[in-house]
Amino acid sequence: MLDADFFRRWMTVTAASVNREAERLTALDSPIGDADHGTNLQRGFTAVTAALEKEAPDTPGGVLTLAGRQLISTVGGASGPLYGTLLRRTGKALGDAAEVSAEQLAEALRAGVDAVMTLGGAAPGDKTMIDALVPAVDVLGDSFAAARTAAEEGAVATTPLLARKGRASYLGERSIGHQDPGATSAALLVAGLVEASGE
Ligand code: ADP
Ligand code: MG
Repeated sequence: MLDADFFRRWMTVTAASVNREAERLTALDSPIGDADHGTNLQRGFTAVTAALEKEAPDTPGGVLTLAGRQLISTVGGASGPLYGTLLRRTGKALGDAAEVSAEQLAEALRAGVDAVMTLGGAAPGDKTMIDALVPAVDVLGDSFAAARTAAEEGAVATTPLLARKGRASYLGERSIGHQDPGATSAALLVAGLVEASGE
């Protein structure tokens, strides 16, 4: 079972990997965006870890809804409301249980990803974070490691795609040949599950 400590670790290790990879995320956002994705997420996840330390929510749902709120209020770019919605909706689906199973997390994350698609209007294949999140959620019931692999492969598979949503879509055909920054950071978030579980 996964308790609030697990979810806190998930957010903390994701904050650390976002810090480690910030330059790469910003570099990916340079040819097909405005070169701020790494700094956007760094600001957001720094606020997430600070808020979690200060407020210390004691349920999985509480951790994720607080984290989502922080991302929405601190990240300027499109990715803030989208990641914020992902975590808030997932947290809401987990309710106020003190512990949840991996299956419950998989179901809740599915609801979270659906909410991101509703908010942003992106479908799989549009070259967004959705291209890493959907394949990950599809296999999350198998294992966190399987989800990590699926997310990483989904991120790499955005390279030949034409962007249909977000800033990269303004480039039309010129968006082809570049890996999507948001799909790349989504893979970091999913990889954080493996790290947090010590799998
Ligand atoms: P901005 O584009 O406002 O500068 P970021 O650079 O932080 O915001 O994030 C860009 C990423 O957000 C993209 O790489 C893409 O994965 C994701 N994104 C943008 N628009 C959408 C959308 N409508 N639905 C899903 N993801 C999106
Ligand atoms: Mg950007």
